[in-house]
Amino acid sequence: MKLIAVDLDGTLLNADSRISEVNASAVRKAQESGIKVAIATGRAVYDVQEKLKEAGLNAPIISANGAAVHDDQKRLLISYPMDRSLAFSVLAWLEENEFYYEVMTDQAIYSPQKGHQILTIEMDRVLSANPDVTLKELIYATEKQYSQAGIVRIASYEHIPQEAEIYNILAFSLEEHKLEKGRSRFRNDSSLTMVVSSDHNFEVEDTRASKGNALAYLASHLGIPMEDTVAIGDSYNDISMLTSAGKGIAMGNAHDEIKALCDDVTLTNIENGVAYAIERLLEEACPSPSNL
Ligand code: CA
Repeated sequence: MKLIAVDLDGTLLNADSRISEVNASAVRKAQESGIKVAIATGRAVYDVQEKLKEAGLNAPIISANGAAVHDDQKRLLISYPMDRSLAFSVLAWLEENEFYYEVMTDQAIYSPQKGHQILTIEMDRVLSANPDVTLKELIYATEKQYSQAGIVRIASYEHIPQEAEIYNILAFSLEEHKLEKGRSRFRNDSSLTMVVSSDHNFEVEDTRASKGNALAYLASHLGIPMEDTVAIGDSYNDISMLTSAGKGIAMGNAHDEIKALCDDVTLTNIENGVAYAIERLLEEACPSPSNL
């Protein structure tokens, strides 16, 4: 094993969206033993760099679900931006259907000014229709959307700067029927790729962009065969890398369908499942004398 690709949300990040010290030191231990550890996430690269900095880590980054790959010197290795007119047609549909969205680009994350209002309205509707859902759950679900680094509010998608490369469009809704309407609109559209990374979202990107493709690119860039790679993740947008890596490890908190596709299952993100998986991988690669 020479390269480990690790997802962030629901995987390396804990409940507070941070990298715990236990996980950070396991990553450092792997790096010190000569193993490359890459981050592979739907988040934007500058957002990931903030998270890594907080944890005192440095790593190659596969961002925007594989639409961009940076090395550990922050240099862009490759990107698969969306065709601008295709991206704009997706965004026009999302605005017409009053979706909260985020457009990840090489410049910033663009999100509509009335995004907050849209989510507040949805929250009210969900709460009045489902007395069992608590406000706390809904706020928790929306928190990630508000806490990212690099968000710029715009009146409409038409204000996205001409020179911005559009990597990924994320649509978010608390309402199931609305979410399903969006997912079914884009699921079978062969001009783009749609993936789901949480219970409340869907994301669209260029057909060349996937975590699996990006991992294959990074591995070949580093001269590492795919058999020597490991991927760790928890959700549907991880399937491409979990199934193409030499070994796929599902988080304990992953859906059963994801676990079924993997070679191994580790603990949950709250239980530092990444650290646990890395310790086991290191042990397999170099068994300690007491276990021989
Ligand atoms: Ca995830």
